[in-house]
Amino acid sequence: LALRSNKRVVLDRCNHDSFQGWSHVDYKKLEKDFDQLGDLADSTLNNTYAGLKHAEDYWSKEALIALNFYPYQNCKVFACKSCKSLFLYYTDESGHGPSPRLRLVNSELIRDELACLEFDSKYFAIGEVLETLGVDIVNFNRIVDQYGDSMMVPPDLKASEVFISARKYFSSSGNGTIYLISSGKRVIREITAKFNKARNRM
Ligand SMILES: [Zn+2]
Repeated sequence: LALRSNKRVVLDRCNHDSFQGWSHVDYKKLEKDFDQLGDLADSTLNNTYAGLKHAEDYWSKEALIALNFYPYQNCKVFACKSCKSLFLYYTDESGHGPSPRLRLVNSELIRDELACLEFDSKYFAIGEVLETLGVDIVNFNRIVDQYGDSMMVPPDLKASEVFISARKYFSSSGNGTIYLISSGKRVIREITAKFNKARNRM
């Protein structure tokens, strides 16, 4: 994606300026003016469990394009038929109705080195995760103290660093904790593989 996208976005021919940040697009325009090239779904990363955003404002044209985080991880890739600029597309389901959204790709904003994983303590032991992350119990406590129940991974987290937040829940069927983990893509992929294996055993 970084290779195919333009360093300086060509705006004179098409005027895609309103799509520098996420913007509503109607299906007819999408079909008429754009070609679908593929999508960003990566089955080795457990994207459906991650619902976090980078700390920048979602709507900002400066917001990072963090490929392994919501909403980018499930985007489809489109190209403008006229100027060939690349775009990301997804349907936002969080509002009153489905909202199709399009964003121009600015390669300077792409971040691909970090990934994330979310899981319920009921189904997967945090101990196994810590081992893979190379985090001992003292550091685990320090990290969770630092991030609390935050859903926002700091954009300056390095791939060699570890983010862990913990959200406790109480329900009639039992209590538990939802952990959100973020670190380098390689180690998150490794944990995801273990996680999927454990799920398949159930
Ligand atoms: Zn164009």
